[in-house]
Formats: sequence, structure tokens, C-alpha cells
Amino acid sequence: MESATRRAGLDQWKPMTTNANELMEKLSALAKRRGFIFQSSEIYGGINGFWDYGPLGVELKRNIKDAWWQDIVHKRDDMLGVDCSIIMNPRVWEASGHVVNFNDPLVDCKQCRARFRADKVFLVVVKNSDNILLHAGVEADTAEQARQLAAESASSKIRRRLEDRADQLTWRIDRADQLPQGVEGLCPLCGGVLTDARKFNMMFKTFVGAMEDSSSVAYLRPETAQGIFANYKNALDSSRVRVPFGIAQIGKAFRNEINPRNYTFRSREFEQMEIEFFCHPSQADEWYEYWRKARFDWYVGLGLTSSKLHLREHEKSELAHYARACADIEYEFPFGVNELEGVANRTDFDLTQHQKHSGKDLTYFDDQTKERYIPYVIEPSGGVDRATLAFMCEAYTEDQAPDEHGKPQPRTVMKFHPRLAPVKVAVFPLVKKDGMPEFAERLNRELTLAGLATFYDEKGAVGRRYRRQDEAGTPFCVTVDGQTIQDQTVTVRDRDSLQQIRISADKVLDYVRQRLV
Ligand code: ATP
Repeated sequence: MESATRRAGLDQWKPMTTNANELMEKLSALAKRRGFIFQSSEIYGGINGFWDYGPLGVELKRNIKDAWWQDIVHKRDDMLGVDCSIIMNPRVWEASGHVVNFNDPLVDCKQCRARFRADKVFLVVVKNSDNILLHAGVEADTAEQARQLAAESASSKIRRRLEDRADQLTWRIDRADQLPQGVEGLCPLCGGVLTDARKFNMMFKTFVGAMEDSSSVAYLRPETAQGIFANYKNALDSSRVRVPFGIAQIGKAFRNEINPRNYTFRSREFEQMEIEFFCHPSQADEWYEYWRKARFDWYVGLGLTSSKLHLREHEKSELAHYARACADIEYEFPFGVNELEGVANRTDFDLTQHQKHSGKDLTYFDDQTKERYIPYVIEPSGGVDRATLAFMCEAYTEDQAPDEHGKPQPRTVMKFHPRLAPVKVAVFPLVKKDGMPEFAERLNRELTLAGLATFYDEKGAVGRRYRRQDEAGTPFCVTVDGQTIQDQTVTVRDRDSLQQIRISADKVLDYVRQRLV
């Protein structure tokens, strides 16, 4: 059983260091205050692993999905889109291997009953000859992180000894599911003994129809990919594409993660943006290289600096038995370097499995070469929520901006790429008189009718209105002042450079549009 705080979602993310902790606290506070992200069902104490997007968050997330759809589906002539049901015939998950293999190793604390993914808990033992200096359970992604966290969380006395005697110490760090025989894992929360690791299937089960028995069991999809494979033939037969081509889908996926954590990073309900790209086996290596680069560049183009993005090629030993190659696009989140998207060469595994289990012919006949074969698949599979979190981490900036008296004041600004910003333009009358509100409202309406997400604000000092838009990440603020009434010009303030230019009000739409690409 989960503890009360765990169930309520109060310990959902545990950043690594004090700075990271502080940054994530500030970011999540801003996200809540300004309506980006809320805990799901918060008025009832929340529910661990589930999150809601507020008025600004939903716009940000939608802009990310729209950018992906435009770039992947609309701007290419070798890509089709689909939108498949979340609940599918359960045989799909037998064919894909999820019923048998979609497991994480699980351990429970015998004392406090907390539950962990065994591959994310480490036993750290530090010895000085035969004396044990440190013996702790630590929750971490890697052994290196475990070493760092164990040292950080030790008492100051032990920390000093770890530093002073560094060359005389032996460290042993073992994952809770790979402990040597007879060694017991320790709970990272209370230090109690952990159970042996056992398998836990992460698919959420439900029942379809009125009977709740084994014949009506179905699953909430743990990935969108299988809907694409199940529709590969339909998509091919109903359109005029030829191999190589891809099918793209954005949609919800559900995983009963043992330990949701790091804010929205590991959730139990999330959205994926997945591509299955079908090609001739002899061209699969080339397409794999192509998609690795294309997907990496997509994130950079939307503002994730390439110094914080990494492309990590999997070692052969990490690869699933059917995969020929796989790379993770990773981002340096404040809580550590973690996967944003995976790109894999899955060979003909998925289509072969579905052909076998469904009995339907899923081969492709090339009428030019007269060759019949099962295409290979390159799969770039990304998470919308992880991308949203990465764009938010990247955008969060603390700097200084002058107030209405020209005095520099600290400000918090979300420097989103204009294409992703929830609101593109804010329109303000400088004061609420002399025809300024009427002019500003008219301009605001025109921009809205032209399809821009805008925000009209006439309340409070103009400096304060700028600050509110900076926190929301609005790239342009347009102010209507006394001069506007004389010559129909307005000022446009740039969120990042803070520069203000004066342009004709009827040029604002073009000015903003040019900067949204
Ligand atoms: P991880 O190792 O972090 O659990 P994974 O390798 O199992 O991820 P995939 O099965 O490759 O993930 O899923 C593709 C993408 O879906 C991931 O790159 C990630 O962006 C997203 N994703 C997977 N699981 C989650 C989750 N629990 N919460 C949010 N996003 C997720």
C-alpha cells in the first residue's frame, strides 16, 4: 500500500541537488500560479502520477503538438496521420509482447510499505577496510547518481570522512534487482529491508461490456505505436503512398508506473507523438540516421539549446532482441539527464508479429521491382509531456528589467520560442482614457480574428502588465498610447531583448507573423 503523502502525490518529484530542487520548486510554483500545470483532482488531495494542464499549459502543449503535426505530417508528402482508439482488441497486446514483457521490476519496503522500481533503487555500501562507513538505499537513475546522492544525504561527520579518506575507501553500488545472493536492499525512505524484486506489468486493465471476467479484459494502450501497426494496411490501401512512407499519431498512453516522479516527467497518463516509418530493409540504416538527426534538429529549432540536448546511441547490450539500433534524445533536466524521445530501428518485428497473430497478410508488394516483403520500421517515439517540461525548463529565466521609473528589477520570464508561446501578443492601452482602450480593443480583436492567440489587459501599471506577460512567455506586447491616437502607431516590446519599436498599428499582424516561424 502506498503511504498517504505518496498517494496524494505530494512527493512526486525529487530533484537531485539543492539548486535543481530550488529551480524545480520555482518552476512548479510558477506553473501553478500562472495556470500551466496543476495536480490532477487537487481539491481531493491529488492522485499520484496524474496532471492537468491549465489555461496557459494547454496552449503550450497544443502548440507543441501542432508544431510536430505541421512539421511531420503537413509539410511532408511521405507521411499519413491516424487517430486510433485507446482501447483495442487485447490480442494486439499479445502480439506486441506487452502482455508478457511490459514489466518493470518491483520492490516493496517491508517496514513502511513504500513501493519502488527495483532498477531505480541502489544499495550503496562504503567501507574503510572492514568498517562500514555508509550503508544506504538510494533512489536514483544511475549508479553514479546514487553515489552522489548517498554522499549528499550522509551526516556531515560521515561526509567529511568520505572526503578525507577518499583513497582508502571501497564503494559498492548495486541495483536492487541485481543484488548479490544473500544481500538485502534498503528502503530509500525509511531504511527498512526491501523485498526481493518481482515483475509488475504496467498496463492498466479494464473490462469491456457488462461482464467483469477474464473474457472481457482489455487494456488502456501503453503506447500509441500499436494502433499504427494495426492500421498499416488500412492506411496503405486507402491512400496512394508507396514505401518508404510513415504513419504519425499523437495521443494518450497509460502506464501504471511504479514510481511516478520528477514532476510530469514520469506520469501514469501521458501523451505520445509517434512515427512509424516503413522502408525497404536495405534502406533502414539510412532512414534510421535520417530520423535521428531530423528529430534532434526539431527540438533545437524550437529552442532547446543543443548543449543541453544529447543523442545517446544505445550499446548493443541495451537493445531489445528485435532492434537493430536505438538512440535516445536526452535533455539535461534540472533533476538529471533523461530521455525525451527514442528513435529505433525495429526491423520487421512488429508487422511480422501482427501478421502471425492476426493471420492477415501484411506484406508490401512493390509493383515496380515486383518484390514482396515486410517493410522495416524506424520509430521516432516522443512524449508530449516530457517535451512540454523540457521547453518549460529551458524557457525559465531570471533576469532584470527596468520598471516604469527605469530602475532595474528582477523578473521571471519564460523565453518560449514564439511558435510555442501560449499567447503570441498582448495588447495594452497605456491608460484607460482618451480613446486608448477603444483603439487597443479594436486592434486586439483584429489580431484575434486573424488567428493569433492574444491577451487584452488594461488593469494596473503598464510595467506590471509587462511582468505578467513575461511570466506567461508572451513574446510581444503592443501598447497603445497618446501618440497612437494622433498617428495610428503603437509600440511593440520584445520580451527577450526588451527593445521597443514603434510601428504602424496595421503592420502589427505582419510583424508578429513573421516572427512565428
Ligand atoms: P523510460 O525509460 O523513461 O520509462 P521508455 O523508454 O519506456 O521511457 P518509450 O516506451 O520509448 O519510453 O516511450 C516513448 C516516449 O514516451 C518516451 O521517450 C517518453 O517521452 C514518453 N514516455 C514514456 N513513458 C512515459 C511516462 N511514464 N510519462 C511521460 N512520458 C513518457
